[in-house]
Amino acid sequence: MKEEKKLKIVLFTGYACNNNCAFCIDADKRAYPQKTTAELLREVLRAKNKGAYILEIIGGEATIRPDFKRIVAAAKELGIPQVSCATNGRVFADPAAARAIVRSGIDSLIFSVHGPDAATHDALTRAPGSFAQLKKGLGNLRALGFRRVGGNTTVVKQNMAALPALAKFYIKNRIRNVEYIFVDPNYGGAKNDFRRLVPRISKAAPYMRRALALGRAAGMGQWKARYVPLCHFGGCLGQISETNERELFMTEHWAPDFLNRDAIGSRSALSRKKTARCRGCRFYSACEGIWVEYLKAYGDKELKPVK
Ligand code: SF4
Repeated sequence: MKEEKKLKIVLFTGYACNNNCAFCIDADKRAYPQKTTAELLREVLRAKNKGAYILEIIGGEATIRPDFKRIVAAAKELGIPQVSCATNGRVFADPAAARAIVRSGIDSLIFSVHGPDAATHDALTRAPGSFAQLKKGLGNLRALGFRRVGGNTTVVKQNMAALPALAKFYIKNRIRNVEYIFVDPNYGGAKNDFRRLVPRISKAAPYMRRALALGRAAGMGQWKARYVPLCHFGGCLGQISETNERELFMTEHWAPDFLNRDAIGSRSALSRKKTARCRGCRFYSACEGIWVEYLKAYGDKELKPVK
């Protein structure tokens, strides 16, 4: 019997952030008002009542909020099974802050790492010292015995060649869940500065595949590529985030400025596209194609139907 999909609710706290990533999808939303503590506590209760299995708390940067631990603790007290947070990791450089967040009951953390070294990462976050802080944060969490740390990397022109080195960084830090995310140019920083940031998929994919292969060789079966056309990922079709996500989750996004009751469906219906070139492709039904803004700027010549 087919298992029922689990409900994942992505709870946005607001768009304020202590980094300033060049490609950030929320780059034009920084000044939007933050949700209040009372709003967030109400939403946590609503998520529980809706049957959320995963509550992912994100910003901006949610961990810089003074009420972050209270929100996590409330979700755990209500019994939401998995409470996680995607973070730039800087707050965890302070051992006391790291300890307090772990004690609040958070189940897992996803660190955003955009390069294997300070030069690459900090140039993209435009926050000097951000790489040193996230590294210290990883060390502090390890010292606390907190092991459930994943990683995600936004793939842009400036870091794609460094992905194999970054894979080695993840391996060294024993990070078993990693996503290499092809940059979303439909909104925000990457849309505003498309030519400088967005690589051709045919140029980025070999580096992404190499990073996945390094992970496989090191026993990291949960490393994945996200937002990619499948024709560039033959040989790693078991490592595509969307395939996995469609099978396992129903995902809702609760943001300050929008509510999306089917984030997975609307992404494939509106934000990404296949084109006439895709006709007859063996992967047609499994593949979401590529970002709409990408097609507008670069066209579809790199899409190669697999017969
Ligand atoms: S040709 Fe089109 S449908 Fe086939 S894998 Fe590439 S993007 Fe997807």
